[in-house]
Amino acid sequence: MERVRYSLQREVVFDTIMSERKHFTADDIYARLKVSHPKLSLGTVYRNLQYLSDTGRVRKITLPNDVDRYDGNIEDHYHLICTMCESITDLEIDYFSFIDEEVSSKYGLDIDHHNLVFYHKCPNCKGNKS
Ligand SMILES: [Zn+2]
Ligand SMILES: [Zn+2]
Repeated sequence: MERVRYSLQREVVFDTIMSERKHFTADDIYARLKVSHPKLSLGTVYRNLQYLSDTGRVRKITLPNDVDRYDGNIEDHYHLICTMCESITDLEIDYFSFIDEEVSSKYGLDIDHHNLVFYHKCPNCKGNKS
């Protein structure tokens, strides 16, 4: 029974991530689910997120000086972040796989992927300031 409930909760967490093209934090997911799933704890959300990223169903995005985000888009891609509201958008530009190949061959490593983050002030925040 316990097992069934855990995997159900995992699917609920997964569905939440896939429900929007958004980069959820564990807190975002917990806040969204706690009304409909009162038995769910933040710790369970974290455990499920860890499992989902370990198994490659979602991608964990680790950002300097920021909490981890979880991405339903598991293709290699880059992100654009607003320095004011911290909203994250996927960039639709080609992934530079040659960089991975270059680092792999130069250092004899097996590079999985790399990450690039671009910073800007989004139109919303720009508008609010003036
Ligand atoms: Zn913004
Ligand atoms: Zn993304």
